[in-house]
Amino acid sequence: MEKVDFEKAYNEIRERQIERTDSWIHETIKAAHQFRESQKYKSDEFYGKRCIPLAIEEMSELTKELTKFLRDKGDMMNMLQEIADVYICLDTLRDIFDISDEELKAAEMVKYERFLDGMNKNPEVTK
Ligand SMILES: [Mg+2]
Repeated sequence: MEKVDFEKAYNEIRERQIERTDSWIHETIKAAHQFRESQKYKSDEFYGKRCIPLAIEEMSELTKELTKFLRDKGDMMNMLQEIADVYICLDTLRDIFDISDEELKAAEMVKYERFLDGMNKNPEVTK
């Protein structure tokens, strides 16, 4: 998707969300989950040949955007787009590897604790 298309669609959604009810958001997420439950989505072909390479590609695009940001050439709309892509791919990877909400939360807690421990030991990193 071109940047302009993304920005236009993003702004339209942001504007509509002001009027949008929680039920619309719920229905959209439900539709995404239903797609994931579909036979096509669950097939090894779809996962192995499409989802995993796509996740690698999207993470690479985010890496590229972060590199631009470090060189003061970043664009917030591109950054937002790539972060959204990676979030979606991470959700897909979670499905592929059959990781439950509880398992993911526990893993995140361990990682956050290690992260905070590291920050406390190296406070200059957070300056
Ligand atoms: Mg992308």
